[in-house]
Order: sequence, then C-alpha cells, then structure tokens
Amino acid sequence: MSDGTDRADGGTAAGGEPSRVLVLNSGSSSVKYQLIDMAAGTADDAGPESGGRRLTAGAVERIGEPGGVPGHAEALEEVARELAGRGLGLDSPELAAVGHRVVHGGTRFTGPVLVTDEVLAGIEALVPLAPLHNPANLAGIRVARRLRPDLPQVAVFDTAFHATIPEAAARYAIDTAVADRYGVRRYGFHGTSHSYVSRATARLLGRDPSEVNMIVLHLGNGASASALRGGVCVDTSMGMTPLEGLVMGTRSGDIDPAVPLHLARVAGMGTEDLDTLLNKRSGLLGLCGDNDMREIGRRMSEGDEAAQLAFDVYVHRLRRYVGAFSAVLGRVDAVVFTAGVGENSAAVRAAATAGLEQLGIELDTVRNAVRASGSRLVSAPGSRVAVAVVPTDEEWEIARETFRLARGTAGGGPGPEVRA
Ligand code: AMP
Repeated sequence: MSDGTDRADGGTAAGGEPSRVLVLNSGSSSVKYQLIDMAAGTADDAGPESGGRRLTAGAVERIGEPGGVPGHAEALEEVARELAGRGLGLDSPELAAVGHRVVHGGTRFTGPVLVTDEVLAGIEALVPLAPLHNPANLAGIRVARRLRPDLPQVAVFDTAFHATIPEAAARYAIDTAVADRYGVRRYGFHGTSHSYVSRATARLLGRDPSEVNMIVLHLGNGASASALRGGVCVDTSMGMTPLEGLVMGTRSGDIDPAVPLHLARVAGMGTEDLDTLLNKRSGLLGLCGDNDMREIGRRMSEGDEAAQLAFDVYVHRLRRYVGAFSAVLGRVDAVVFTAGVGENSAAVRAAATAGLEQLGIELDTVRNAVRASGSRLVSAPGSRVAVAVVPTDEEWEIARETFRLARGTAGGGPGPEVRA
C-alpha cells in the first residue's frame, strides 16, 4: 500500500552523506513505514510543511490474521519488497538509518537511543509495562537489524518527551514500595507528537519554544493532553499506560479505580475482560457505538441522543484538562489542537473552548470553521491565549531524532541543518 507520494529523487545530503531514514512503526497487527529524506530544506527544522521530503509511505496490515502475513519477520520482508519495487530498496546506499517507534521506555530511556544488544534487553525488560506494544516494536527492530546489520537503528520512545514531568505529577498516591517495585508511575505517551507539535506551534507564533507555555491536545483515536512550560513537559494526561486521561475512541480515560474491582466482584470479570472493556469497548464507542467523530457529528445533526451524550462526555473531560493544566502552568500562552479530531473537528474545538474567556481563551468562530490543512491560528485577534491548529507528524519527528543520532555516530558531524 502506498499513499502516492513516491519520489526517488534526493537521497544524499550536501556532503554526499546518506540522508534517507526509514521509519518503522511496528504494531501488534501492522507495520507502518515511511521513507523520509532529511537532506533538503531542513534548515529551519520545519518538518514536512516546508516541502516534500517524504519519499514513500505504506503499511502491511493483518499480521497474524487470516489472509495476512504470519509474523513481523514476514511483514518486514514485505516492506523491503515494496520499497525495492519502487527503487527505494533497503540495500540502497542512500539509506542512513532506520528509526523505530517504541511505545514504552520506562524510566530508563528518556531520549532516543542507538540500538545495541543492551538496549534490546532494556526494551525487553519493559514488556510487562506494555505487553502488546513493546514485543511488536522489538520484533521490528530485530528483523530490520538482520536485514541491514551495518545500518544504525534508533529507538524513539513514546514516553521519552514526558520524562521531565516532576515527581509530584508522575507519582500515584499509592504505597511507594509497591509502586517502585512494579514500575507503577505516570510515564505519558504520544511524546513524539507533543514534541513535534510544540515546536511547530512556537514557530507559528514566531517565538522560541523556551518562551512559550502551552497546552497541547492530541485528539486522535487515542487522545492525550500535555502541559509544557517553556517547551518542557510538566504534566500529561496519560499515565502508566495509554488508558488514563481523556475520553478516547475506544478507551475510557479516567475512571474511578474501584470500577474494575467492582466489576470483578459483581460481574465476575477477569483481567482480560476488564482490559478489553476499558481499552476496546469504552470511550466514544462504548458510549454510542461509534468511535469516529465524523459519524458522531452526522448522528448528532439528526438528533441522535446517544451520539450527543458521547460528544458531551468527550468535551467535558477535555475542558477539565484544559482547566487543570491552566492551573498547573499558571500562565498559558497557547492551546493547541492536533491529530485527527483536533485538526479536523471545528465542533470539538468550539465546544472545548466555549466560555473560557476568564482563562484568556477566545476562539474566532469564523477562523475555526474554515477547513484548512496547515498550521493556523483560530483564536480571536484579542485573545490573550493563542488557540492553534497544528498538524502532527510523528513519523517526521522519529526521522529527525534518528537522523540526528545516526549522523553523530557516523562521524559526519551534527549535520549542519538538523538542530537538537
Ligand atoms: P488519528 O488517530 O489522529 O488518525 O485520528 C483518527 C480519528 O480522527 C478518527 O477516528 C476520527 O474520529 C477523527 N477524524 C478524522 N477526520 C475527521 C474529520 N474530518 N472530522 C472529525 N473527526 C475526524
């Protein structure tokens, strides 16, 4: 599967160094990939908005399912074949590195790392914290390493951007000995998105990230909010797992921790049942039977009460976090909407910010309603807090981090055009 952006030009930076990065996102049942050329036009660190650097993208789906490939090894071989078929093979000398999304980095991995045997063991040790994701990520890394043992492989963690969260926000108020023994604390996720979007927002505002306090609302099928002080994350809505926080497509977000205990007692639900209930049968889907905000909007326009309730619960939780993170930050300069719902649903943005003038947040209803694809301001001209819509690009962020590390090791210098 290709998204039609295939381009075989470029591939080496000015000095002739290889400049392409293959980004692999190996999930439990799919491997998504993008091939990104980091050579051209990265001077302002602006990401893909500044020009077409993505050479190709695609996915191999249904791993381990009927009609799909049997495992991750076969999936990656399929990716390699697809790339080769487009003249962009894994054996290309222009390939500088492979960047892997890894979901859980625990407290050990607070930034991207070059993959070594020790790093692999470290990711393996975190499997109990991310039993579905980390094994799939590991499988992807192992196969890529086998296919191109000479290439730098970089692991970029979903949790890393949140490693700066102070203990007061990261700790759960439970017995410390139990928490420490089992790694029970808040790690946060979607870090590459929050990182990318926060820099892109600062750029949109014409300011340095270190000057801006912001609340980033990543509203996709998964959803998370983060509070950033001067570009540094100080709180986030997801916790030990991606289940905590906002109402999501199929996840409950915040819930009284006694609810699963109650259901275990009165409904005889076991850990697997509860896992499925809270992660796959909750959120918008659990409330109204649909997890796509487009469909929910359509049903609401027909007066569907369940869809309206789902929307209201979703927005109520979102507003709670905007309020809470305003208090965490004290001064807020920007509220930013990103990901599928955040970038596209004017109705969610309007409902989430309505009546927040006391917090300095004033939306411009006309700007908000305009359908557009790029980064833009949607706040009223006099709004003390800028309200922005900024498209996220997690793959580009992974490629950026990967290229930076790979170049450092290749002795090619920091790369004149890629900033930390
Ligand atoms: P993501 O996980 O970022 O790809 O976001 C996927 C979600 O974005 C979908 O499940 C939809 O709920 C939502 N979405 C995508 N396009 C639109 C749209 N035009 N209007 C409202 N919601 C949208």
